[in-house]
Amino acid sequence: MRSLEGKVAVVTGGSRGIGRAICVRLASMGALVYINYVSRSSAAEETQKIIQDAGNRAEIICFDVAQGDAVQEAFKKMVADAGSTDILVNNAGITRDGLMARMKESDWDEVMNTNLKGAFFCAKAASKAMMKKRWGRVINISSVSGVAGNPGQANYSAAKAGLIGLTKSMAREYASRNITVNSVAPGYIKTEMTDLLDEKTQEQLKRDIPLAVLGSPEDVAGAVAYLASEDGRYITGQTLHINGGMYM
Ligand code: NDP
Repeated sequence: MRSLEGKVAVVTGGSRGIGRAICVRLASMGALVYINYVSRSSAAEETQKIIQDAGNRAEIICFDVAQGDAVQEAFKKMVADAGSTDILVNNAGITRDGLMARMKESDWDEVMNTNLKGAFFCAKAASKAMMKKRWGRVINISSVSGVAGNPGQANYSAAKAGLIGLTKSMAREYASRNITVNSVAPGYIKTEMTDLLDEKTQEQLKRDIPLAVLGSPEDVAGAVAYLASEDGRYITGQTLHINGGMYM
């Protein structure tokens, strides 16, 4: 199914983990995909190679989503080079976990700046080209922690819940321009982010998940692909939960 032929997709944090699977999937549907990263260029190059080896198209673009000026410049460059930014997936995210009582202000700020403010910067920049074309898709990667809360993740949960509010307000503001805005809220997905959890926590998690396994990045990519495609054209302001039944 190459239903995204002619579209340009930007995936923040697209170099590895869930972002990589999203890049591979959107490129397989015919989109030209911009793989964003901030520090590990080798991971971005690996993702580009996977896409190109499959006969699809991808470019790499390095910027920090938390830096407003850098985001603006990057989107200007992508529009100049590719003509548009039709699909934006706000996927870049970090954790700085710790109990509230011990959480440093810097842990709060770093997570907010990357996970929430970064999405605001990117959506604002990407929407200019979308409005001109009267077509666009913004997909924000939230988290089960943002809807159910999670001890040790006050900063992360607040940022991910914030993304859902951003999604709904943007969806209402941009609907008249044929731009849909949705969130995808993954549960526990096997990536470097969850590899950080110790074995005991991972075993406990599996007991909390009705389907009793961690999800894969491809499970999330499938939901993003659906929302980005014409099949998702009548869906806006929603949150799609991909969590094995962990939160219902
Ligand atoms: P990873 O840690 O595996 O990858 C994170 C990606 O984000 C990397 O590409 C990284 O680039 C990029 N990134 C981090 N900070 C920035 C920044 N300031 N600017 C640009 N890019 C940045 O994460 P996952 O794949 O596990 O998670 C992806 C998204 O899904 C995140 O938003 C996460 O919160 C969310 N999520 C993940 C879940 C999971 O179980 N894994 C569950 C629920 C939600 P670089 O390598 O260059 O640093």
